[in-house]
Amino acid sequence: MASVTFEKATRTYPGGTRPAVDQVELTVKDGEFLVLVGPSGCGKTTTLRMLAGLEEVNEGRILIGDRDVTQVPPKDRDIAMVFQNYALYPHMTVAENMGFALKIAGVKKDERAARVLEAAKLLDLEPYLDRKPKALSGGQRQRVAMGRAIVRKPEVFLMDEPLSNLDAKLRVATRTQIASLQRRLGVTTVYVTHDQVEAMTMGDRVAVLKDGVLQQVDTPRALYERPANVFVAGFIGSPAMNLMSLKIVAGGVKFGNATLKINSAVLSKTKEKSITVGLRPEDLVISKKDGIQVEIDVIEELGADAFLYGSAVIEGKKTDVIARIGSISSLRSGDKVYLKPQGGITHLFDVASGERLNNDAPAVAKKAVAAKPAAKKVAAKKPAAKPAAKKVAAKPTVKKAAAKKTK
Ligand code: ATP
Repeated sequence: MASVTFEKATRTYPGGTRPAVDQVELTVKDGEFLVLVGPSGCGKTTTLRMLAGLEEVNEGRILIGDRDVTQVPPKDRDIAMVFQNYALYPHMTVAENMGFALKIAGVKKDERAARVLEAAKLLDLEPYLDRKPKALSGGQRQRVAMGRAIVRKPEVFLMDEPLSNLDAKLRVATRTQIASLQRRLGVTTVYVTHDQVEAMTMGDRVAVLKDGVLQQVDTPRALYERPANVFVAGFIGSPAMNLMSLKIVAGGVKFGNATLKINSAVLSKTKEKSITVGLRPEDLVISKKDGIQVEIDVIEELGADAFLYGSAVIEGKKTDVIARIGSISSLRSGDKVYLKPQGGITHLFDVASGERLNNDAPAVAKKAVAAKPAAKKVAAKKPAAKPAAKKVAAKPTVKKAAAKKTK
């Protein structure tokens, strides 16, 4: 086992105008399950192929443990790859498929058989060892592909969308199996997916890529609670976070007919006239008449939960809004409701750079939304937002009475 380090690793394809992978700096710890996630074309597969030695590294270095493998051929890197396309040999049995790489490597027959059996037990493949791939289900074939990687006992597993050929139900079951198997084996793993739910449920840490540039690497929870920029905020989480560009007013931002209070320290970090405010669907709640007015497009009933999809006119622009609401609701398409923030984290980003503004201190004070911005008479004495003790963003609530505000 070993760590994996990308040091400013860059890949520009011949004829490419910009790098497909741009100065990636990333360390995967020994035994860690790291998921690379991002939209199509962001450079996930290229990053994995650079680590595998299948793609040239134009700048920077890649290390496995302390060993610089940048110029080392793939076969000498001690890695095993599992692809989306399992590429099993159709004329070989499951056991032969799993043991093939060992045979090529000159491993003796007895040891080969023992390692194949050990992997087959781990993967529940024992009953199928004598079958040919065509007599297996998609999930079983996927496990054979995993088995083929496991028997090699590599230092690093590389997996490129290994579940994408499976149906939705089997994907969920298999992702749990792969994650728990990886934890049992403790082999450093880099796993590529475009599916953020897969990334969040499987990875010890998740690396988010966009246009070849690493945006953020963190635990799933930290990515969810503290996205570093607007892109990560919108990409991680399902349904997606509501991102609204809201006008800065005294003591906060204008949130429909109310003011969402923001610490002056955070407000002072931006030179812009607005702030991009991010509120997750679970952090919005229906109110009588405070906040933004939303016209409902559709209510999606999921049993335990229901989601309201609608639109609001914010700063003159029609903006989509999603809120999680109670499972039983009498609301219908075309109805109008008010939504206000409730007890969650309010994410604040610079409208120009997209970077997070409230990194260090909670940005939004308790009782953060006040109905109707208290007009002209702005008191300059009290700070609107008290810095809370903990490092967690405060829970905004709507208060009907106009609050005294500061600049
Ligand atoms: P997907 O999720 O669609 O597989 P990805 O994130 O894995 O996408 P890559 O396959 O790494 O993305 O591609 C990154 C960029 O490099 C894309 O813009 C792609 O068009 C380009 N690219 C990939 N392979 C080549 C190649 N062989 N030659 C030239 N450009 C390439």
